[in-house]
Amino acid sequence: MIAVSLWQQHLAENIGEILFDEQALNKRVTELAEQISIDYQQMGAEELVVAGILRGSVIFLSDLVRKLDLRVDIDFMVCRSYSGTSSSGEVQIIKDLTHPIKGRHLLIVEDIVDTGRTLHHLRGLLGSREPASLKICTLLDKPSRRETPVKVDYIGFQIPDKFVIGYGLDYDDSYRHLPYVGVLKPEAYMK
Ligand code: IMP
Repeated sequence: MIAVSLWQQHLAENIGEILFDEQALNKRVTELAEQISIDYQQMGAEELVVAGILRGSVIFLSDLVRKLDLRVDIDFMVCRSYSGTSSSGEVQIIKDLTHPIKGRHLLIVEDIVDTGRTLHHLRGLLGSREPASLKICTLLDKPSRRETPVKVDYIGFQIPDKFVIGYGLDYDDSYRHLPYVGVLKPEAYMK
């Protein structure tokens, strides 16, 4: 008999429920890609710059772009959001986009919108560079957590206020490679 691996034991103990399995994710990502392709085709966009916010968006983005019926340039940004002495929080750019976006159609791809601070900041920053258009696509949205309003154009799923991991989303730099989105048991991060 093959023994259950330590990793599988860990997952069984720490993952509460699976919100979206591989099949559900694939179906929704396909729907989003079809909608995005149609919208930009109708806008007459010759090319789309897809800007992924690392590291959480990487798996969602790689699935999404392979389903787009458009000419695509993939770029990445690394951001860190932190709360300073005030409760408003700030967003720090660790790595900026590699290419200029002036006059180009830009789609920001994010894993999850929580307080909205990160995307609010990025909309302002990248919008000031005068792209031809700027839209945001997120896999997940936790509307009940919003502190800063932000316009999000494409949303995969709205979820309740639970800490989720997998399909790019991490806790303490783990779990990103899980092929599903699951809820991390509160005991796992309150230890
Ligand atoms: P916001 O600026 O508060 O909207 O933060 C968005 C970022 O918070 C996301 O890109 C994630 O890195 C992180 N985040 C928020 N909620 C979760 C979650 O449930 N699981 C994993 N990361 C999360």
